[in-house]
Amino acid sequence: MPPAAALLAWYDRNRRHLPWRAQTGEAADPYRVWLSEIMLQQTTVAAVIPYYGRFLTRFPDIAALAAADEAAVMAAWAGLGYYARARNLHACARAVAAAGGFPRDLAGLRLLPGIGPYTAAAVAAIAFGVPVVPVDGNVERVVARLFAIADPLPESRSRIAAAAATLGGDAAALARPADFAQALFDLGATVCGPAAPLCTLCPWRDDCAGQRAGIAASLPRRAGRKPRPLRHGVHFWLADGAGRVLLRRRPPRGLLGGMTELPGTPWRPQPWTAEEWRRHAPMPAPWCVAGTVRHGFTHFELHLTLMAAEVAAIGVSGFLRPITALPDEALPSVMRKCAALRVPALRRAGDA
Ligand code: SF4
Repeated sequence: MPPAAALLAWYDRNRRHLPWRAQTGEAADPYRVWLSEIMLQQTTVAAVIPYYGRFLTRFPDIAALAAADEAAVMAAWAGLGYYARARNLHACARAVAAAGGFPRDLAGLRLLPGIGPYTAAAVAAIAFGVPVVPVDGNVERVVARLFAIADPLPESRSRIAAAAATLGGDAAALARPADFAQALFDLGATVCGPAAPLCTLCPWRDDCAGQRAGIAASLPRRAGRKPRPLRHGVHFWLADGAGRVLLRRRPPRGLLGGMTELPGTPWRPQPWTAEEWRRHAPMPAPWCVAGTVRHGFTHFELHLTLMAAEVAAIGVSGFLRPITALPDEALPSVMRKCAALRVPALRRAGDA
């Protein structure tokens, strides 16, 4: 069994300094741990860091977040994607504030909105020192390699979780559950990465079955993924002579619920003909193609065409915002990409 003490000694020398982490010897703040874990779901550390800093400045503690309007929370979240997370985050903050604090055990954490088994384990271990091993993608990869688990994901998930739990049963891990969990995260993020693992730097190289068998880099294996279906849509940039653009709010529930968008067609498998999309345009206008946008959602790939027109006055329903105020709107990434075709300052690194 790979010894926890070796990993913890490596962690003490090599731990990542992340803004939500307690310094050595400090008690972790459950609010910061929980907030970072929700933000990190489906999102990289590098992408989360600037959002986390801005969010914490705006909502410094659970009481501030619980007291905020949902619209303010959604605006602070805009761009991070998976917006159900933001709605659940807000509902969870209200539940925790009403209860006077976070529950300190797995079962209590699981009852809160937006907290699944992994997040409950991460918060319990890191914030409250519960001896449990949270298994995220990094830990899954490390454990599959350590134990040479070659069955493909997702079927191998329960086997990997059982093997991870045995690692946490070591006396050294039981003595430092928060550090052990974070040490596993850091090993997966920095040494045992998704591409070639850096086994010569690994504190567990002598105990790693995947490394000994020469198959580590190929693990974990995954069952073949089906290609995501493609959907098409057309959205409209309609600006007036006063420098304002027409926006609308999406329905409160469902995909991108409650977020702001440019008016547009539904998204469907077939491309839209000009005759069809004109029926969804907010008003007759001299529409020109402003560009196209690709965006990947979990279950489908979206291709959008942006049509643009400028008119003297907009006399249709929706709401008008100064174009200069768009950075403060709760625009989801896909809409920010569309708007960036007209306002290049809205473009972010990595936008397709
Ligand atoms: S020895 Fe290599 S493959 Fe095994 S856990 Fe360490 S870095 Fe990963």
